[in-house]
Amino acid sequence: MPISSGLHPEPTREEGLSREQAAGLLTEYGPNALAPPPAISLWSRVFAQLRDPLIVVLLSAVALTLATADYADAVIIGAVVLFNTTVGVVQEVRADNAVAALSAMTAPTARVLRDGAEQEVASADIVPGDVLVLGEGDIVPADATLLRAAALLVDESTLTGESVPADKDAHGPDPEAAQLRAGTVVVRGRAVAAVTATGPHSALGAIAASLHPRQLLTPLQKRLAGLGKVLALVTVGLCLLVLALGLLRGQSLELMAVTAISLVVAAVPESLPAVVTLGLALGARRMAIRNAVVRRLSAVETLGSVTVLATDKTGTLTEGRMLLERVWTPHGTVAVSGSGYEPVGEFLDTGLPPAPALTDAVREVLVAGALCNDASLVPPADADTPWAALGDPTEAALLTGAAKAGCAREGLVLTRPRVGEIPFDSLRKRMTTLHSTPRGMIEIYLKGAPEAVLDASLLDEEPGLLELARTEAAALSAQGYRVLAVAAGSRTGLPEPAGTSESGLKLLGLAAISDPPKEAAEATVRACRRAGITSVLITGDHPATARSIAVRVGILRDDEAERPGLVVTGQELAAGQVPDLTRVRVFARTTPQQKLDIVQAWQARGEVTAMTGDGVNDGPALRQADIGVAMGRRGTEVARQAADLVLADDELTSVVAAVEEGRRVYANIRRFLLYALAGGAAEIMIMLLGPLFGLALPLRAGQILWINLLTHGLTGVAMGAEPASPDAMRRPPRRPNQHVLGDGLWQRVLRLSVLVTAVCIGVALWARHTGGPWQTVLFLSLLAAQLGVALGLRERVLTRRNLSLPVAVLTAAALGAAAAYVPFLANLLDTRAPSWPDIGIAAAAGLVVFLAARTESRLAKSTGDSSKPTGTSRPDRTPVRSAAP
Ligand code: ADP
Ligand code: MG
Repeated sequence: MPISSGLHPEPTREEGLSREQAAGLLTEYGPNALAPPPAISLWSRVFAQLRDPLIVVLLSAVALTLATADYADAVIIGAVVLFNTTVGVVQEVRADNAVAALSAMTAPTARVLRDGAEQEVASADIVPGDVLVLGEGDIVPADATLLRAAALLVDESTLTGESVPADKDAHGPDPEAAQLRAGTVVVRGRAVAAVTATGPHSALGAIAASLHPRQLLTPLQKRLAGLGKVLALVTVGLCLLVLALGLLRGQSLELMAVTAISLVVAAVPESLPAVVTLGLALGARRMAIRNAVVRRLSAVETLGSVTVLATDKTGTLTEGRMLLERVWTPHGTVAVSGSGYEPVGEFLDTGLPPAPALTDAVREVLVAGALCNDASLVPPADADTPWAALGDPTEAALLTGAAKAGCAREGLVLTRPRVGEIPFDSLRKRMTTLHSTPRGMIEIYLKGAPEAVLDASLLDEEPGLLELARTEAAALSAQGYRVLAVAAGSRTGLPEPAGTSESGLKLLGLAAISDPPKEAAEATVRACRRAGITSVLITGDHPATARSIAVRVGILRDDEAERPGLVVTGQELAAGQVPDLTRVRVFARTTPQQKLDIVQAWQARGEVTAMTGDGVNDGPALRQADIGVAMGRRGTEVARQAADLVLADDELTSVVAAVEEGRRVYANIRRFLLYALAGGAAEIMIMLLGPLFGLALPLRAGQILWINLLTHGLTGVAMGAEPASPDAMRRPPRRPNQHVLGDGLWQRVLRLSVLVTAVCIGVALWARHTGGPWQTVLFLSLLAAQLGVALGLRERVLTRRNLSLPVAVLTAAALGAAAAYVPFLANLLDTRAPSWPDIGIAAAAGLVVFLAARTESRLAKSTGDSSKPTGTSRPDRTPVRSAAP
């Protein structure tokens, strides 16, 4: 491990650009971004819509009707084409806008010096000459030359494919080592660098082509496209049957051809793609409002089927606001009072001021902790705000503790400036700094996880003392404390070879830091459990600390805490002592690589895994997880850009909100399918069966298309915004491989369509019997019946949420009536004004179907569909779910 020097003491800081300079350079050089893909023109969108096979069929129908001088049908079919194309294009544009707004929310940012102060700006606003401030987990936003660097290690694999990160140095012998390239990742260390090239002129520009993420179809969209083709084929087959039967009965070819074509169009839910795209886009928008920003539309859909939530601990389940509460030394233990990061508190030994020897020993621990430290404390701006911490909260807690003893770091560094360091990383789990003393000595301070420090190769101590410290550390960890061991040593000069500073040191003591669980954490874990989602804790912390937190937030039940196999460590994983990773609930002392193994183990069992992460090494696991979750504020740039879901408020509860929205989107798509397919099937059945009851040509082409327009176009699209079912989060997730029509949905399509057909034919027969205009009555009752289905399938009929559905239903009803009463439309659609009783009976048909659909969906909910209890629908998973209620 190289020991670098040079960043401390801080040399005079580079000024950076002024705001005006930066603005000028931005206009000169353009934004630091790759040229966006060319916008899709309106015409190509319209053209894409017109290329749809259904529309081609319709356009040929227009030609056919024009050729036979059937202008009425030509006008109607033309109107349908126009309406469909408009709806399609509008939905597509809306979805695109939603996606663009989302990517703007998670656009990369970077820290630069402007007007002499450090500030966060959008990466796109960076210009040549800007001074970048880089730290662990940052993505280098532009090509740059290092000005200063400390222990800088950069992963350049995105550009070079080289998987071993490269050491970078501002003033080393190799000039290449002072160059940073856009798109590479700071794995460790810190740096200040001057930007040399941005946007297309940077290294990223050279490989731009491979970086444009194309919006591909989501798995659901693909599956629905396949379904659409099958439906179209089946429908075409049935319509040919209608055509043939009509011809056999002596209807004219033109009439039957147009009728069959209209039937195809009406029966196929052509608004399905629009409904799905819009459903996903609206879902993404609602998630963003609830602080969960998805970075890909497909994540909306995946979120609904998440079955495992793997979460890290510090700052996610816990407050991440750390407080030093106890200091152990070989001379005894003190308790530290105080709260937050405010440097006010007392040190007491069982309620009394500690003896001088203990006081001195504690001071040594605190001084070491304050010097081996990169955090800083921020005093409150006014009386109401608390003290805050910048940097690692663990280190900030040590600073506060030291300041309480009068050892503020500002004073310490005056006499002992830092001259070298080996930074902390989650693999080594320790950190070492070197300081020069006024007498020309070098002092070494080391702090880290007890196992990483209480080691004979590092410490020159009696085995008995090491053993005592280990026991003490284990006891403190079991109480839920985060424990750091602190050691120190001195040399007469800078240690020569790398790493030799970490040997022959003296143990100073242990620092026990508390990090209370978040208030909301327990509720979040409970909500997951109720929704059939298994929560798993993955942390770098000590197993006892992890277990204690897991019990407090409910990941482990009280009676599970000591059960073997539920809490394991990274070492046990590495040694192959854990046969089934999916049975484990708490992983402690893990490495980032092991996170990847854990995700893969779950995925091999067919589980859909959401995983949180924010470290620089979490990228691969975040990408592998079905839903990688990064924190918007606390997370590193690398984690944010690797994630599928970014939590704007850093709160885990937002994942639960996103899952709920995901389930809602999926439920709405299934509801739309049920509604649209049942309506389409009923139309075909009526056309097929009507003649058997003496209703020669049950509906005219124009009438079928009119119904189609009002049901699919108007009402169907409004169904995409239906609210979530109140018990959406009290059901287990759907099976990830569930077919969209699976779990009883197509049987329900059949039941509802038979019902609608029976009611409508019955009404038509009655109308004919009473001498009314039976075709118009059939037309009206079919429309009313479908609207009845739309309302009957709602979760709550009278909810005020999604008023667009009742409005759409009312509008459709009014336009249906208009078709019968407005002379122009009546002419076009070949309807006759019905009498009041006829209208009444059509409305009654709608009401009957509404009530039946309502009963049917209640039954479906209680007996099957996706609401099956976990144990019966997924017997293979019962052991995994043993924790579920
Ligand atoms: P987590 O944040 O999940 O606890 P980390 O990898 O950050 O995991 O930390 C692992 C362990 O390393 C901690 O339990 C602690 O003992 C130790 N540690 C954490 N931060 C520091 C630090 N800044 N310096 C030294 N040791 C640390
Ligand atoms: Mg950490």
